[in-house]
Amino acid sequence: MSHFSIAEARALAVGPEVDLAAIDPASTPGISGSSKDIEKATAKIEDEVADLQELLYANKRAGNDPGNVLIVLQGMDTSGKGGAVKHTLAGLDPQGIHIASFGVPTEEEKSHDFLWRVEKALPEAGVVGIFDRSHYEDVLVHRVHQLSSAEEIERRYQAIVDFEQRLVESGTRIIKVMLHISKEFQKENLIERLENPEKHWKYNPGDVNERQLWDDYQTAYEIAIQRTTTDQAPWYVVPSDNKPYARMVVKYLLLDALRSMDLHWPEADFDVAAELERVRNS
Ligand code: AMP
Ligand code: MG
Repeated sequence: MSHFSIAEARALAVGPEVDLAAIDPASTPGISGSSKDIEKATAKIEDEVADLQELLYANKRAGNDPGNVLIVLQGMDTSGKGGAVKHTLAGLDPQGIHIASFGVPTEEEKSHDFLWRVEKALPEAGVVGIFDRSHYEDVLVHRVHQLSSAEEIERRYQAIVDFEQRLVESGTRIIKVMLHISKEFQKENLIERLENPEKHWKYNPGDVNERQLWDDYQTAYEIAIQRTTTDQAPWYVVPSDNKPYARMVVKYLLLDALRSMDLHWPEADFDVAAELERVRNS
């Protein structure tokens, strides 16, 4: 069974009634979990994604305004955000991609509205942007640790919806992905990070403190997703205990966005026949 298609990826979009506990992080909807099938389904679209991204970038270079794509990745520690960035963008033209990761805000960032640093990190026209964490931290970690008042967090859900609506209206395809892992899987990942010296750089003792707040985070995620999933910028809850599956889904969602842009190769702004003649005679 390796017939995974865009329709199966789209089916992971959730509505405002989403119940995270009802989505099994170990499941692989639309395909068997076998790595062979997943590899095959991924390989099937790699060339098309790369070609469409080149087409998008070509339009930017030609001075058109082809729109852009923004992939927002959220997920608990070890959910595979970094790996998803790497695999989603592998094979794309590095000139046409933009990666931004969001950690604890600097003092300067804290002195501005929470969307300030996000605005600055948006991809330009013609570029595929990917966020490793995002403005959603400002309603996730902020809710769990009460870093902002309940009123302020309440305000932010709508501020996010308005912000994303504005982006969509100006030509951005937004793909919001929650890499949904189980608590048990996170434990395995953390142990693996500790047991392998090559992974120590990824380990942060603070992750265990956050892990102890697992249920609070799940609630914060569920509320954030319920409040900000819209027809134009839906959330996809992607089961991610099987990392290759999750990466495959993100690639299919990117393909969906790129296809929807209806891109064409920019027309030459010179006389092609005359130029051919000149080159041949040179
Ligand atoms: P990592 O993604 O592992 O580099 O960790 C980044 C850390 O920054 C996580 O613990 C996030 O919760 C935290 N973080 C990201 N954005 C914010 C924010 N707006 N406010 C507070 N903490 C944040
Ligand atoms: Mg981390």
